[in-house]
Amino acid sequence: MRSIKPFTSNNFVDILNKPLYFLDCDRLNVCNLIDPDDLNFFREYYCDCYTEIVYYEYDRPLCPNCDSTMNSNGSRPAKPNKWSNIRKKQYICPECGKTHTTSLENFIKRYSNYTRAICEKSLEYESIAYLSYQKKAELIQLENGIKLPRQTAYYHESKYSEFFITQKEENLQKIIKETNIEPS
Ligand SMILES: [Zn+2]
Repeated sequence: MRSIKPFTSNNFVDILNKPLYFLDCDRLNVCNLIDPDDLNFFREYYCDCYTEIVYYEYDRPLCPNCDSTMNSNGSRPAKPNKWSNIRKKQYICPECGKTHTTSLENFIKRYSNYTRAICEKSLEYESIAYLSYQKKAELIQLENGIKLPRQTAYYHESKYSEFFITQKEENLQKIIKETNIEPS
């Protein structure tokens, strides 16, 4: 076990005190504000705690047809970058039956199966020299398997830490207000 901190549900919450991810049995639920390119963070530190990742909508979706709040309706497999054991939560409208699958379009272009980092990496190689598709795939795999996880972890820390810093400040402000202490 390489965990750096205990895995609790209040580990990573945002300024609204909503969790960005939580563990439910052996399922790691990750909200769709988390970039799939940052999932290495979980793989590196928490891989012993879960067997699959389920992406869910950060905000419970409203039906595009009738505006009703949609209910959970299982999950569907997703294969960003051909990774396995990733699913996307599905929702269904209790009124009209319309379904919606968690969107990752902030990170993965519509009709693409690859994350931005992988697409950029592929372009990078393209600009260096002509490489066969196979060679490119090998290089990407090599970099992602060996080099990227470590970098990604640091990247994750810096990218999301603003959430947590802001949250701490907000909490502090709240406490100050509640206790009527004049901030100096
Ligand atoms: Zn509906």
